[in-house]
Amino acid sequence: MSTTATATDSTTSEEVTGEAARRRTFAVISHPDAGKSTLTEALALHAAAITSAGAVHGKGERRGVTSDWMAMEQDRGISITSAALRIDYGDCVLNLLDTPGHADFSEDTYRVLSAVDCAIMLLDSAKGLEPQTLKLFEVCRARNMPVITFVNKWDRPGREPLELLDEIEQRIGLRPTPMNWPVGIAGDFRGLIDRADGSYTKLTRTPGGATRAREERVDPEQAAQAEGAEWTQAQEEIDLLGEIEAHFDEASFLAGESSPVLFGAALPNFGVSQLLEALVNLAPAPEDPVDADGAVRPVGAPFSGQVFKMQANMDKAHRDRMAFLRIASGRFERGMVLTHANTGKPFATKYTQAVFGSERSTIETAYPGDVIALVNAAALSVGDTLYAGKKVHFPPIPSFAPEHFAVARAKDAGRYKQFQRGIAQLDAEGVVQVLSSDVRGEQAPVLAAVGPLQFDVVAHRMSEEFRAPIELTHLDYSLARRTDAGSAPTAHALSGAEVLTRRADGELLVLVHNKYRLRVIKRDNPDLVLEPLLAGGVE
Ligand code: GDP
Repeated sequence: MSTTATATDSTTSEEVTGEAARRRTFAVISHPDAGKSTLTEALALHAAAITSAGAVHGKGERRGVTSDWMAMEQDRGISITSAALRIDYGDCVLNLLDTPGHADFSEDTYRVLSAVDCAIMLLDSAKGLEPQTLKLFEVCRARNMPVITFVNKWDRPGREPLELLDEIEQRIGLRPTPMNWPVGIAGDFRGLIDRADGSYTKLTRTPGGATRAREERVDPEQAAQAEGAEWTQAQEEIDLLGEIEAHFDEASFLAGESSPVLFGAALPNFGVSQLLEALVNLAPAPEDPVDADGAVRPVGAPFSGQVFKMQANMDKAHRDRMAFLRIASGRFERGMVLTHANTGKPFATKYTQAVFGSERSTIETAYPGDVIALVNAAALSVGDTLYAGKKVHFPPIPSFAPEHFAVARAKDAGRYKQFQRGIAQLDAEGVVQVLSSDVRGEQAPVLAAVGPLQFDVVAHRMSEEFRAPIELTHLDYSLARRTDAGSAPTAHALSGAEVLTRRADGELLVLVHNKYRLRVIKRDNPDLVLEPLLAGGVE
């Protein structure tokens, strides 16, 4: 018996390792309006996962989904939910994890980045690096994550390509290594020269935009004649890139130090197939995960995965909490009974779903790099590990620096119990971080958020789900710093700042009004420990 079991195990392990190797799990980091939704559609379109653009993330399409949650999104015309989109492309399975795109983004946006192996940094050719892109890039940098850069909207007037590369290198210290080079300035886009083999793809605009662009391979000599001065300029710039040795380098790309750059325009589908090829050929497949003790669990080992996001009320028919889990190792089969590493309790997966865009469908099997949605997941929290076979426990997902703070109070004192339960639950799910102090008391916890939208979510859920409407009083702080109990000074020495305890992990945080006050506090308290919350510093 045991030999059969071993043979089966090793066959499974081989199968899983093979499946993991053909997966690419990534997210797009960008500033609102850079074209993330458009690019997502274009990628899916090119990969023929959908038949016409507009069927995946189209803002119009969302209107068809009915639930309290979606209603809130629709009111604001923004995306709160994070879902995964699976794109089958050749032999590869591309899992695109959606990062909520609004300026009011929340901690969820950051957590999604803990579940991917690579990011596409999407830039608007006219704008270059924008604030939200910079913040998200810092998270990638803190994890040494490989980043592929896509310069979008090349069909519109924009900046010089060399100037954009210079901005990337100067401002974020990421060394750009262009994979292709545009012929024709932004707004007069003629085609792309592949730097690896010198081949030329001529692009022809098709009317209507959202149809596949005509890309045609043209002999470079003919192209040189046809494109004239634009061709000569592109060649000169390519020569310059050679002189400064801006060549793709796998080791520094995988270490997050250099970034392959591609030019294109998502709307008319120019250069999108080149981006798909870059994902397949350059982006890493899921690696063997490392547990909290530093031990490696091969991707081919029995099932394990980590919850990176919790979501409630996505669908009226499933009025409960859902956990999004990224598979770290092994094959997932629906119906498996897993172990919840934090409690040692069993977790049944009968109703597991895959999440594609705004639709959900039941899933039967999934592999490392895939995202599954577990329903009835009230017992789970962000960062939790589920496994089969040998026990494993993954390190927690770091929480990010909050910048918005508000005091919550129950509107109706008679519903204090429900208030407490609701706040504890939202804390466990990581919707906001909950802070408290003896001075403020149990009845008035401070909520800390990365984006103010999180407060709306809390207020909405507290009244709808926990039937304990709340009153929020915004506080004038904008920074949080970690301190230690030994060094925590008196309120007087803190120039109006406040020391609070984070309930989830008991850490002491100092809340400060702004960076000028922070400077004064540091000057007046040279021995005070004041550390940024995220190593690598998203400030
Ligand atoms: P998101 O906020 O990043 O998801 O951006 P969207 O995908 O909604 O795009 C913002 C706007 O830019 C929309 O009006 C798009 O049609 C437009 N857009 C996106 N990509 C391109 C492009 O390559 N060329 C042009 N001309 N417009 C684009």
